[in-house]
Amino acid sequence: MEKAIIGKELVKILGKEKVLVDELDLMYYSYDSSFLTKLEPSNPFAVAMPTSTEEVQQVVRFAWENNINIVPRGAGTGETGGCIAVNGGIVLDLSTWDEIVEIDARNMQVIVRPGVIHANLNDELAKYNLFFPPDPGSSKMCTIGGMVANNASGLRAVKYWATEPYVLGLEVVMPNGDVIITGGMKSRAIKNVSGINLTKFMVGSEGVLGIITRIRLRCFPKPRARGIAMAVFDCLDDAPATVLDVYQAGVLPSGIEILDSSAITAVNEFKPEINLPAAEAILLFEVDGNPPSVDFEGEIIQQIAKKRARSVEWATEEKRMTELWEGRSVTATAAARVRPDGSRIFAGEDISVPLSRVADTLRAIRALGDKYGIKVVNYGHIGDGNVHTAPVINPENPDEVEKVLKMVDEIHLLAIEMGGTTTGEHGVGAVRRPYAEAEHGKAVEYMRKAKEAFDPKGIMNPGKVF
Ligand SMILES: Cc1cc2nc3c(=O)[nH]c(=O)nc-3n(C[C@H](O)[C@H](O)[C@H](O)COP(=O)(O)OP(=O)(O)OC[C@H]3O[C@@H](n4cnc5c(N)ncnc54)[C@H](O)[C@@H]3O)c2cc1C
Repeated sequence: MEKAIIGKELVKILGKEKVLVDELDLMYYSYDSSFLTKLEPSNPFAVAMPTSTEEVQQVVRFAWENNINIVPRGAGTGETGGCIAVNGGIVLDLSTWDEIVEIDARNMQVIVRPGVIHANLNDELAKYNLFFPPDPGSSKMCTIGGMVANNASGLRAVKYWATEPYVLGLEVVMPNGDVIITGGMKSRAIKNVSGINLTKFMVGSEGVLGIITRIRLRCFPKPRARGIAMAVFDCLDDAPATVLDVYQAGVLPSGIEILDSSAITAVNEFKPEINLPAAEAILLFEVDGNPPSVDFEGEIIQQIAKKRARSVEWATEEKRMTELWEGRSVTATAAARVRPDGSRIFAGEDISVPLSRVADTLRAIRALGDKYGIKVVNYGHIGDGNVHTAPVINPENPDEVEKVLKMVDEIHLLAIEMGGTTTGEHGVGAVRRPYAEAEHGKAVEYMRKAKEAFDPKGIMNPGKVF
């Protein structure tokens, strides 16, 4: 079907305020935060912005009947090209459908539509002394729909894990227009082992199985207190060894972050007043809970870290905690500034390896940077082995682009070789598809079969995941 006709049909369904067809408007939907989509942007045929299940259903039925691809999109903060119509099609922009349907505080849960922004949800939940713990760095931009689709996580995954365990049920519009409710039609239960767990199946499916239109999330009580410890190491291997010792002492911090020497230098060059100590690695531990337990765990972390660290500082006052954390808060921005003529690109940025291999992995990534002559800044969520690598290049220079793509390929293969994964939190999307077989082997065949069962025509977000 011609693009112009698709646009006209969508306007008939949704009205012209909810449909974009102008090429300039569509350009905005041709990329997300990934480097791949900056290199190869791809305009959709049209964008539809439904704000009810019925509207989603009508657009999807139209697409199904006419074999047109459908690509769901939240805020477009993804790093993998996941929300881009790489093979053409209609982008369903769900970001304007941002209703918090109900905060059911008595049952410790909340029901939202997909476009609610993560930080806004937590602001509302705070009024009930509740919170939704996963905390991506994109919290002020990304949608809950995008988080569920990507099983997003963040700094607190060490203690609170990713989005998946909090998703109690979903409403999903299937590729043929059917609407299903997972987790029980009327259920407000927190525990539920009834039936095959389609909720779990949908979480992290990156928009290739259906469109998530309603989300029932479990909430946790907000912790009353927090503390931050900063430990400075002259030897890289001492950082993961300390993390392991903290775990073995029975302490589970809410976050454990690492800055290696490349990140420390980047932060100090970007904002000299932060003045991080020059070192091979800095660890930041965040502990939360009730005040006596925070103090107790802080004491144990200090005792353990002092065995190997050059210095250790512990703080529970808000002002000092913010100061200690500031280096980590600005790392991503600082990485982007290490070269005046360069930019930080999002590629190979999210591998996750076993804790026992973190130091080897960081050394291997540095060696790859040297091999290809590319500046690389390393930081990440060491508590769960998630390493964020920031290559900095001049994207206008084809030679640098060619080299960085080779380096990123080696980083992904390194992750698998280390017994890890090509992506700890950002997902596969279009960019990490080539590694599916190497990572999952025969299981990919069964992923494909599952996809065919949900989407026999293959119209849901094709060109992604496998
Ligand atoms: C500065 C920055 C920091 C980040 N930090 C983190 C981090 O700490 N942790 C982390 O996990 N990620 C992080 N990300 C990546 C990204 O923010 C997350 O993956 C986020 O969950 C994407 O949400 P979104 O609304 O932007 O989704 P989009 O990018 O719009 O879409 C992501 C995927 O979800 C699918 N999708 C979106 N909505 C729906 C829906 N309603 N139904 C079905 N499928 C849907 C899309 O098709 C696509 O495949 C970061 C990104 C940036 C730019």
